[in-house]
Amino acid sequence: MKFIVDNNVGKLAKWLRMMGYDTLFFDGSDDWEMIMTALAEGRVILTRDTQIMKRGVVTSGRLKAILIKSDEPEQQMRQVVETLKLDCQSGLFTICLECNQPLKESSKQQVRDRVPPYVFQTQNQYVECPACHRIYWRGTHWQAMTKTLEKFRGGS
Ligand SMILES: [Zn+2]
Repeated sequence: MKFIVDNNVGKLAKWLRMMGYDTLFFDGSDDWEMIMTALAEGRVILTRDTQIMKRGVVTSGRLKAILIKSDEPEQQMRQVVETLKLDCQSGLFTICLECNQPLKESSKQQVRDRVPPYVFQTQNQYVECPACHRIYWRGTHWQAMTKTLEKFRGGS
């Protein structure tokens, strides 16, 4: 499942990428442009804009869009997770949070000079973004994010 997130619910983009969902952030002002992108790439629209929900492509079911109810980001995310039964666990850290590119595994030697020494000492698994070359590893940052994502799981 792929998404396009309207700028009125922008915070969702990072969380969805964190969970491994290919997610575009739409920062334009022309709704039609967002709708065309969603149709062309098979993306689900997440928005707070009721006008989008009234468009023919949406009411006819050709395009899937979810109207986000809350103005509070955590509630918004919970709504999306529950409505679409999203997987909050298995896709963790497969997509770059900054550029939405699939991450690739890197060996310890490849990242040697690019991570802090204490990280290099203690971590053995790394993934890297082929676009921005940001490196991700497990550890405290990862644990904090896992904890964040747990909050979005329904019923737990
Ligand atoms: Zn990146």
